[in-house]
This record gives sequence, C-alpha cells and structure tokens, in this order.
Amino acid sequence: MTYPPVLCYHRIGGPLELGVTRVGRSVFARQMTELARAGWQTLSLDEFARRRTAHGAPRTFLLTFDDGYASLASHAYPVLTGLGFTATTFLVTDYVGKTNTWDVRYTWNRLPHLTWPEIERWRGRGLEFASHGATHRRLTWLEDAVIAADLEGSREVLTARLGPNSGRAIAYPFGAVDERVARHARNAGYELGFGGVRGSGALLHLPRVPVYCWDLGDVPFGLRADGLGALGRIVAHAANRCAVGTSVMQRLGGLAVERFAVSNRQTA
Ligand SMILES: [Zn+2]
Repeated sequence: MTYPPVLCYHRIGGPLELGVTRVGRSVFARQMTELARAGWQTLSLDEFARRRTAHGAPRTFLLTFDDGYASLASHAYPVLTGLGFTATTFLVTDYVGKTNTWDVRYTWNRLPHLTWPEIERWRGRGLEFASHGATHRRLTWLEDAVIAADLEGSREVLTARLGPNSGRAIAYPFGAVDERVARHARNAGYELGFGGVRGSGALLHLPRVPVYCWDLGDVPFGLRADGLGALGRIVAHAANRCAVGTSVMQRLGGLAVERFAVSNRQTA
C-alpha cells in the first residue's frame, strides 16, 4: 500500500531561532510556486485517505504545518490560497490564542499561536485543521492515562469548535509514536496519525518528511525521487530522531544553520 508523500513545515518567517525548523518566508513562497508550476497538487485529508491505494498518482502531496504559529496566517496561508493549494495545520489545542512556552528554548522568543477566530476564517477559505496534541508533550514518554487524556482532550476541543472532520487526524509531537501511542490515538477516535520520516504502514503511524532550514531547493527533499531526495530524507530522519534542538542536533546541523541563516535573513 502506498500513500502520497507528506511534507511538514513548522514556522514560516519571523525571527531566527536556535532550532532548525524555521523556513524563510521567501523560501517557502518560492517552493510552493515552483511546485505549482511543475504540476504538483495538494490533497485534502479526505483525498489523502482515499488515495492511499492509488499507486503512482502523479504529483500529489499532503502539505502540513505543525504547531499552529500565528505567523502562518501572514506568511504561509496567503501564498497557498493564491496558488489554489490547501494544507492541514496541526494545532496544539491548549495553546490556541496563546504564546508558546514549550518551544522557547529553541525559538528564543515567545511566539503567538493562531487564535480560534483566525483558524475559523482560514478554514472558511479551504484550509484544514487537526490535532498536534493538547500540550505538545512527547507522548511515548508518558503513562497510559496521561496519553489518553492528552489525545482525547485535544480531539474534544477541536471537534466542539470546528466540527467532526477536525477530529480525524493527529500529528504526534516530535513525530514520536509507537504501537502504544497509536493504540491510544485509535481509541480516542483518530483515523490518521502522522509520525516521523519512517512510518509503519499503519494508518495511525504514517510517514512525513519535515522541511528543515537547510532544505532550500525548489522541490523539498520529501518530494524528490532522486538521490538528493533520498539523502535529504536520511538527514531529516536523523534530525528528527535527535530531537531538534539537542546538543547533538546542534552539532550536526550547526554548520548548515550558520550558512543558511544569512541568506534567510536577507530573504525573509
Ligand atoms: Zn510540534
């Protein structure tokens, strides 16, 4: 069984950070524009789920954003609607309308998240929203009751606010999922679950390729069929496994970050 590829962005534009998940505004706009020009189309969550057995469906992908930072509304969504693209944003439901405290070590700044009115407005323009958990904790490290409460609580808030479709999918914080977490996600009512670069093939453990700050080409590594794409996915897997922002990751990615921070600053 094959699935269309899934790209995962985090923060687009805004202040530079110590971590590696921020992509410059102009880099993002260029990537989306070039993908559209090359004939790529984005999928809704429903289309993604239905196309999972469509072998070789040409040039379709699921575009996703994690964390739901407020800057998406100014730097990313207008680009997408201008190109006829859609995307799914995975929200940390306890932080909707608030500033983050869980990521501040890496971003240096307390960054605001999207508010419910903003989410509803962009949903009206064809964008989709789903769960990134309630509290952005690494679920694989938690006890069963805590995992269940986090997943159920997040889904309840989303479906009460945005309707049943918003309770279909979850992107696990840090891509961290194992059989136990996937079982809790299923019990909570989710149908699709997105983890790291390598999935298990199960609907609640699907693969996704993060776009990190060094992924600057017109076509991100996650959509490239060549050797560079394969290499980029290996690096993305390593970065994700290292828990972005740890000292190991900073050593590995430090050179790339330094090299590209300058160009990001110039183009953001
Ligand atoms: Zn996240």
